[in-house]
Formats: sequence, C-alpha cells, structure tokens
Amino acid sequence: MPTTTTESIYTNLITALEDRGLRKTAARAAVTSRIETTGKAFTAEQLCIDLPQVGRATVYRTIRHLVDAGALCKLQILDGAPMYSIARVEHHHHKICSRCGAVGEFQHSTVERVMRSLEKEIDGDIIGHRMEIFITCSQCIADSRTGESSVG
Ligand SMILES: [Zn+2]
Ligand SMILES: [Zn+2]
Ligand SMILES: [Zn+2]
Repeated sequence: MPTTTTESIYTNLITALEDRGLRKTAARAAVTSRIETTGKAFTAEQLCIDLPQVGRATVYRTIRHLVDAGALCKLQILDGAPMYSIARVEHHHHKICSRCGAVGEFQHSTVERVMRSLEKEIDGDIIGHRMEIFITCSQCIADSRTGESSVG
C-alpha cells in the first residue's frame, strides 16, 4: 500500500547540511549530489573512490552530518563496512541482500504493533528501534538458478 516516494525527507541533502549550520561548499555539494544521483546504498569508501577530487575527511564528515540529520540511514552490514542510503520516508526498516548488497526500504504496520506491545514488557521508555532483515534478493536467486553469472 505505501508507495515509495522518490522524495527525500529533505528536498535535497545540501539543505540537511545547511540546517546544521554547514555552509554549502563545492566539496559538500559534490558529495550530496553524488549520493542523490547514485540512488543506491553505498559505503563511505565507494564514495571516496567516486569523488577523487574531494578529500576523504570531507566525505566521511559529510556522511556523518547527514546521518545525524536523519537524511541518511546507516546500515550495519553483517560482515563489512557500514552502508548508507537516503532516508526517503520518516520511519522505515531495511532489507539487505547479503549477496549483492542491494538495500530496500519497507514499512509494516504489524512490525510497529509488535514494537508497541513490547513496550509493556521492556523496563524503560522505548525511544526508537531499527530493523535490518538480511535476505537473498530475487535477482540473486534468479542468478544462482541460471547458474551462469558472468562476472566482469
Ligand atoms: Zn533507510
Ligand atoms: Zn542480491
Ligand atoms: Zn519500525
């Protein structure tokens, strides 16, 4: 039912930085526009490789600010560096393909109901939760069925 909007919580990521009092610089704009055009989950390292003209420290710092602003989600991958993806909707969960790293977002009312009901059993106030479901995506299943995968 909930159609995924292509709109980020922030109309653009540079706004999220400006909201945090960070001036728009060429380097920051390069980082945010790269993230916006990629549209996929990425690691900080990948972003550094994609943006050789931007200093590593700037890439890492910009990512951290975007995560703090809630404009980017930080995804803990089972084995490997954390990945980041644009937060397109306010509260959501992630499914991550353990083979190819594809990340999808989902919202589910049942999950939220279960979490609310847990509140009675957990000592203290729940201030948030996160959920990452690790899957083999349908593309990877299809690839393994055909057996033939030409890795370039
Ligand atoms: Zn997310
Ligand atoms: Zn996959
Ligand atoms: Zn939730």
